[in-house]
Amino acid sequence: MNNFFVILAAGKSKRFNNKMAKQFYNYKNKEIIDHSIKKSLDSKLFKKIIIVTNNLNYFKKKRYPKLIKVIKGGKERYNSSLNALKFIKKYKPKNVFIHDAARPNFSIKLLKNITKNLKKNKAVVPIVRSKDSIKYKIKNQIFNLNKNNSILTQTPQAFRFKDIFNLALNQKKEFADEATLFINKNYKIKFISGENQNSKITYLSDIKSSKTYYGIGFDLHRLIKNKKLYLGGIKIPFHSGLKGHSDGDVILHAIIDAILGATRKKDIGTYFPNTKKFKNIRSPKMLKPIIENLNNSNFFINNLDINLICEQPKVSKYRDKIINSISKLTKLNKDLINLKGKTVEKLGLIGNEKAMACEVIVSITKYD
Ligand code: ZN
Repeated sequence: MNNFFVILAAGKSKRFNNKMAKQFYNYKNKEIIDHSIKKSLDSKLFKKIIIVTNNLNYFKKKRYPKLIKVIKGGKERYNSSLNALKFIKKYKPKNVFIHDAARPNFSIKLLKNITKNLKKNKAVVPIVRSKDSIKYKIKNQIFNLNKNNSILTQTPQAFRFKDIFNLALNQKKEFADEATLFINKNYKIKFISGENQNSKITYLSDIKSSKTYYGIGFDLHRLIKNKKLYLGGIKIPFHSGLKGHSDGDVILHAIIDAILGATRKKDIGTYFPNTKKFKNIRSPKMLKPIIENLNNSNFFINNLDINLICEQPKVSKYRDKIINSISKLTKLNKDLINLKGKTVEKLGLIGNEKAMACEVIVSITKYD
């Protein structure tokens, strides 16, 4: 594996019409550029991942694995692309993938397909057919372009490093994408099926077709002796544990109900009834399919706010651990999770440490 992945993120987003550079805009609970970083990392196909940006300061606070390098971009896209090629030359790469950060929706499957095709081809470019009719103008006359003979090129595009490096080095004029360099020289390109969802985000309206929903969840369990206490998916040392058909994790149960509420999918009992099958089930196992289903249906959590209502243990002592655990289970950034502890002035069942309760509010955005 001697493949390198270059993410071009130095654009000025002139058409995006937002104060923030497009690549840092929050989309599906991550910054737009983070989708490309995460997928290239998760694919495990690359020796190094190069981010090309004109916001070096912004990346200073990021904690990336060592294989990710951040370098300065150029004035135009092709300058940035050449900067990256010059930078990776010293590593003697065999193949380089060049990708626009503005396409966050490609799949790892596409990366694998490109890699497979690179074995026998020097250039692999994903394409889709146009859904709209295309016309073009020469002087004052308008011509129809045959849709069946027209292709739209996407990124990532992958090339033998040697070829693309030489072509880019000798190219003095601006070019739209790296495939253009190959096409201009009549070099062979292997075109493979791209992905319709892998369209480029150009305008703010491209990602504004979304709706936000809110859900509320509440849960309460009795505390009994000789049972382990689980909160937010982790074991907490305590004199009692929560009684229930499952492990009684009030936090995870309230999170599940809040998510089901926001997505209008009934309640936790519908999916996990008090049957033999779910006897003593650990709550992370209940949360997992709910989160998977959520993300597969294009719902993304914006934030979780949690009130744990109990006299003891002190929430402040376990807050970080619990938030870490919830972050892993929900695949949500820690900054988006808040946990508050509420006591009840030693009143009633909760005040006497005979029960524990939890309430959760979640905000979820659905993308079309
Ligand atoms: Zn419960």
